[in-house]
Amino acid sequence: MLKKNSYMDIGHNAISFSGDSYFGSMKETITPSFVPQNIMVIGGGVAGMEAARVAARRGHKVELYEQKGYLGGNLVAGGMPDFKKECHALIHWYGSELHELNVPIHLHSWIDEEAIRQNDADIILIATGSTPIKQNIPGFRSIFSAESVLTGAKDPGHVVIVAGGGLVGCETALWLKNQGKQVTLIEKQNEILPINKTLSYSSTETLKNLLPQKGITIKTNTIISHAVDSRIVLQTEGQQTELVADSIVTAIGYQANNSLYETLRAEREHVYLLGDAKQVNNVMHAVRDAFDLVSQI
Ligand SMILES: Cc1cc2nc3c(=O)[nH]c(=O)nc-3n(C[C@H](O)[C@H](O)[C@H](O)COP(=O)(O)OP(=O)(O)OC[C@H]3O[C@@H](n4cnc5c(N)ncnc54)[C@H](O)[C@@H]3O)c2cc1C
Repeated sequence: MLKKNSYMDIGHNAISFSGDSYFGSMKETITPSFVPQNIMVIGGGVAGMEAARVAARRGHKVELYEQKGYLGGNLVAGGMPDFKKECHALIHWYGSELHELNVPIHLHSWIDEEAIRQNDADIILIATGSTPIKQNIPGFRSIFSAESVLTGAKDPGHVVIVAGGGLVGCETALWLKNQGKQVTLIEKQNEILPINKTLSYSSTETLKNLLPQKGITIKTNTIISHAVDSRIVLQTEGQQTELVADSIVTAIGYQANNSLYETLRAEREHVYLLGDAKQVNNVMHAVRDAFDLVSQI
């Protein structure tokens, strides 16, 4: 049973997690399909896992393909901070559901157009998620995505600038600070968490207050201009300042990974796009999108 987190919900109402009804607002009714189909699901994030789960429960024959060696997609990085363990609990829950439903899971399986053309599935569900937007900072090389740092693939060093004051940037800054690092958070707008579709109002306010309390320096109305050696040049409302940093960790947004879908939809029927690959959003959106789609096929 998942308990409501201190300040973090996985989606707006994702607090109840028991048996078949795991999102507070989503009452699950799964009906058998009249015409069972062969379904190929591409992407093992929450959207792909939910699609595979609902398809299997409806009696479809479904197989799931994931390029990485593990399931969970972006939620693996999302669940790295100890204050967000629920994200990993959700991934584990999906893993055991799919196992119980005997859904074949093909890890380390990168699927391209050719692999789909060679597959005789009736329906293709593309849940390829999103990729972080990259930031180029002339004169500086130690630029890492938040995911690569959260998952331990990259070491950001001790003095870190986090670029982007959205949810991912704020959480990453907090996680780095909790490890004893010196952290500065840069946001180009006049406040952090300016657009936030995931946290409730009270959670947003709590997080906003927590960062300065923890000793994270926040610079709003600020952009990173360029670097000279390890000196990072910042622009704040026309004023130029410099900071020395070991690395810049970027959290400036995500773009939908929909190229596979765009290529395929022109050449075959019954290809569907879901989750962040359709619209970058959050867990609740990805799960609901997958549930609604697969309930109708
Ligand atoms: C650091 C971080 C923290 C977050 N925190 C929260 C939060 O607290 N609450 C919340 O609601 N949301 C949060 N989110 C957003 C949430 O993680 C996403 O909205 C959600 O995971 C989207 O799920 P998805 O399945 O659509 O895509 P993804 O999670 O991106 O999964 C897509 C999967 O497809 C695989 N794939 C891609 N292309 C191929 C291919 N050609 N062949 C095979 N496999 C492929 C990828 O490897 C990946 O595993 C966070 C995101 C990040 C990055």
